[in-house]
Amino acid sequence: MPTISPTALTELVTQTLAAAGSDANEAAVVSDHLVRANLAGHDSHGVGMLSNYLPGILDGLLVVNQTATTTLDSGPLLGVDGHRGFGQRIAKETMERGIERARAHGVALIGLRRCHHVGRIGTYAEQCMDAGMISLHFVNVQDHRGLVAAFRGKSAVFGTNPICFGMPAMGDTRSVLLDMATSQIALGKTRVAYLGGKTVPHGAVIDANGQLSDQPSVMWEEPYGALTPLAEHKGYGLCLMCEILAGVMTGGGTLAPHHEQRGGIINNMLSIIIDPARLASADYLATEMRELVAHVTGSAPAGDEPVILPGDPERTNTEQRSAGLFFDEGNWASLVEAGARVGVSWHAGT
Ligand code: NAD
Repeated sequence: MPTISPTALTELVTQTLAAAGSDANEAAVVSDHLVRANLAGHDSHGVGMLSNYLPGILDGLLVVNQTATTTLDSGPLLGVDGHRGFGQRIAKETMERGIERARAHGVALIGLRRCHHVGRIGTYAEQCMDAGMISLHFVNVQDHRGLVAAFRGKSAVFGTNPICFGMPAMGDTRSVLLDMATSQIALGKTRVAYLGGKTVPHGAVIDANGQLSDQPSVMWEEPYGALTPLAEHKGYGLCLMCEILAGVMTGGGTLAPHHEQRGGIINNMLSIIIDPARLASADYLATEMRELVAHVTGSAPAGDEPVILPGDPERTNTEQRSAGLFFDEGNWASLVEAGARVGVSWHAGT
C-alpha cells in the first residue's frame, strides 16, 4: 500500500507526461493540477487520470502540446478552441486571459470549447480567487459515452457536468469554493471504488435495467448502467443547463447523437469571472462575508459534526495529505501500468 510525497509524485507524473510527448511546461502544469487534486481529496481527478490520458494520447483522442486558438474576442467576451489538447493547460492559460479581461471590464465571459478533460474545476476557481476574482463555471462532457441518466430516464444521456463557484477570501474570512458534479457522485469516484473493491452509496448508480444499485461495476462492465443526477429533478435540471451553457453556447456541442463519439473526454466550459471590487468596497465585503460566515458556520450542529463551508474539506485534506499521499493496491497498479506504457517505472519512495 504505497504512500508517496507530493513532490515525488509530481516528479513521476511529470516524467510520465514528458515520456508521452508533452513539452516541459505542459508536463509541469498538468502534473501540478493532478497532484493538487489528490491533495484536495479528489483522487477521482488526480493522478489516476493518467490511466485514461496515456491510452488517449496513443489513440489520438488527446493531443499533446496544443494551445488554444481564439474564436471570439470582443471586450469582456473571449472564446477559444482547445483542439483536444490537455484541458489542464488550456483552461489555465484561458483563465489567465479571462482574469485580465475581468480586471479591465469588471466581468469576463469565457467560452472554452473542445479541449480534452480539464480535470478538477475547482482549480480554475482557485486560480481566479488567487487573483481576487469571483468565478462561476459550467462544464459539459462530449465524445465520451453518456454517464448520467435524466430524471425519470433509464439510459445515460449526459456527462457528469460539473458546476463550480468561487468567492475569494475577504478580509479575515476564508474563501468559499463550491465545486461539484451534477450527478450524485463523480464518475471517477466509481473508478476509485471499483479498483479498490468498494461499493458506492446505494442509489448513486442504476444498473442497465434502471434499478438502484451500490455497485461501481455498473459503470465499468457491460451492460452499462448510469449515474443518477443529484436531488432528482433539480440535479437533472442543473445538468441540462450545463449541457446548454457549456455545450450549446460555447459552440463545443453536446452529447446529442448527431455529434461524433470517439471515446475521449472532451470538456467545454462556460466561465464568468467577476471583479468584486467593481461591485462593492473592500470594507463592506469583508464585513458582510465575516458576518455571513459566522452566522452560517456558527449555527448549532444537528449531529456530531460542525457546519463547515464548501471548500473546507479540500483545505483540510490538503493540509493533512501534504505529508504523503496514500494509494491502495488497485489504484497504484493502474499507475504502474500507465507508466509502463511509455517506459517510466513507477516506484513509491516516500
Ligand atoms: P464532492 O461531492 O466531494 O464535493 C462537492 C462540494 O461540496 C465541494 O465544493 C465541497 O467543498 C463541498 N462539501 C463537501 N462536504 C461538505 C460539507 N460537509 N459542508 C459543506 N460543503 C461540503 O465533489 P464531486 O461532486 O464528487 O466532484 C468531485 C470533483 O470532480 C470536482 O472537483 C469536480 O470539478 C470534478 N468533476 C470534473 C468533471 C469534468 O468533466 N472535468 C466532471 C465531474 C466532476
